[in-house]
Amino acid sequence: MREAQIKINKPKTFCGIVGVYGAENASNYIYYGLNALQHRGQEAAGIVTRERTADKSFFNVHKSTGLIADVFKDERILNETLKGNAGIGHNRYSTTGAAESSKNVQPIVVNYRKGNLAIAHNGNLTNSHSLRHDLTESGTLFQTTTDTEIILHLIARSQKETVIEQVYDALQTIRGAFSLVILSDNQLIIARDPYGFRPLALGRIGNAFIAASETCAFDILGAEYVRDVEPGEVIIIDDEALSTGKFRSMYLPGIPERSHHCIFEFIYFSRPDSKIFGESVDKVRRKIGKGLAEEAPVENDEDEKLVVISVPDSSNTATLGYVSQSLKMGIKAKFEIGLIRSHYIGRTFIQPNQYSRDLKVKIKFNTVKGVLKGRKVVIVDDSIVRGTTSKQLVRLIREAEPAEVHFRVSSPPIMHPCYYGMDFPSEKELFANQLNGDIEKMRRELNVDSLAYLSLGKLLDSVPEDERRGYCTACFSGEYPTEVEGNRKEEFEANINEARA
Ligand code: SF4
Repeated sequence: MREAQIKINKPKTFCGIVGVYGAENASNYIYYGLNALQHRGQEAAGIVTRERTADKSFFNVHKSTGLIADVFKDERILNETLKGNAGIGHNRYSTTGAAESSKNVQPIVVNYRKGNLAIAHNGNLTNSHSLRHDLTESGTLFQTTTDTEIILHLIARSQKETVIEQVYDALQTIRGAFSLVILSDNQLIIARDPYGFRPLALGRIGNAFIAASETCAFDILGAEYVRDVEPGEVIIIDDEALSTGKFRSMYLPGIPERSHHCIFEFIYFSRPDSKIFGESVDKVRRKIGKGLAEEAPVENDEDEKLVVISVPDSSNTATLGYVSQSLKMGIKAKFEIGLIRSHYIGRTFIQPNQYSRDLKVKIKFNTVKGVLKGRKVVIVDDSIVRGTTSKQLVRLIREAEPAEVHFRVSSPPIMHPCYYGMDFPSEKELFANQLNGDIEKMRRELNVDSLAYLSLGKLLDSVPEDERRGYCTACFSGEYPTEVEGNRKEEFEANINEARA
């Protein structure tokens, strides 16, 4: 027997973040907030709090690899170690080499000439290669391999006077995707990159302020959603903001006319009960499913039963949309639970010697055979990345002896890597890219009776757009909204490969 990771090839995102200022036992709020954001990162978690005495403040830290419930299983950590009324927290998913290494677990904490500083980051920088190179050449010692530490060093090296000015100065140097919560001795600083790639919302719990990657973190705490942190906005929460209820806010240069929110957050990453980019994820995902049915219905005979199943859990909502639109179009479709997902598989488990690729998917999914046998089955999935999981799922479904299997994907084919915080691999490893986007070849490879993807046009019809709000669609279209350093691309591929090895 050996221990290994179960990695189902779904897209992964880099992290969920939470920041709280002005709440007694801030660690408890952060803990529950991180729990709600567990889907954004399951490899590691950490919380840093600021504790004050009459004449000084100090930072308390607890972080480790594992799920939130494991990292903080001893409640004394929350109530005795992590004292203080301000803090930040982080859930990590990583594509860097030392993914499981505790040194890369966030928040990252330092003590520098202005005092204590801790940072938690969601996103990926596109100029980190040159920044790291320049910093290393000038004598900077790195403790981690994360982009996040670069930001800390830039803040610490800034010649500006105050912590806020230093943060603002550093954020003008970095490029790419960053949603950040930064804790200093006297402030919680909340910032988002000028393109607004990753979501970040601002809320209140009584007098206290809270920021989180998604609003589902507010719901669990009974916090009130105030608004999204705007692209390029830097918000400063301090004691004055607590007493007046008003906070300072400033904007980074280089904010484009329209934002470039990651459209994949709507397709897959964010929880359906969250509101991101000013819109309910559930609402958008249903629309996406409806659009898919309009574009790619599966016809059936009068008395034939068309069974529509989702790949749980991320495809459930789009599947509901698909079924409701099919019914509107006069197709006798029925939503069924045909695939059961085990929710109890941890990141590591003991795997048998006779370990096969099929067993990997069977550990995670099983079919309800009575639902599928003899039926015409439509399976709705949110995306196909490398194609290995999809092939295994189809094999599993075919074992249940359906009459036909039709595969519907609620996103366009993923043809290009993401440099803004998703672990989409290099082009040559992407299923759709390998087969030049040829639907017939992909259909044969998946061994299904028909295959269809949502078009990019229909996807864009499903999301709210206006003169300020736009989307990044680079993994589908190849149109990257920002420049990506050549070295960064190579480094990115190397990191992903190393993490996978
Ligand atoms: S490339 Fe794709 S996954 Fe990455 S930010 Fe853009 S839309 Fe999102």
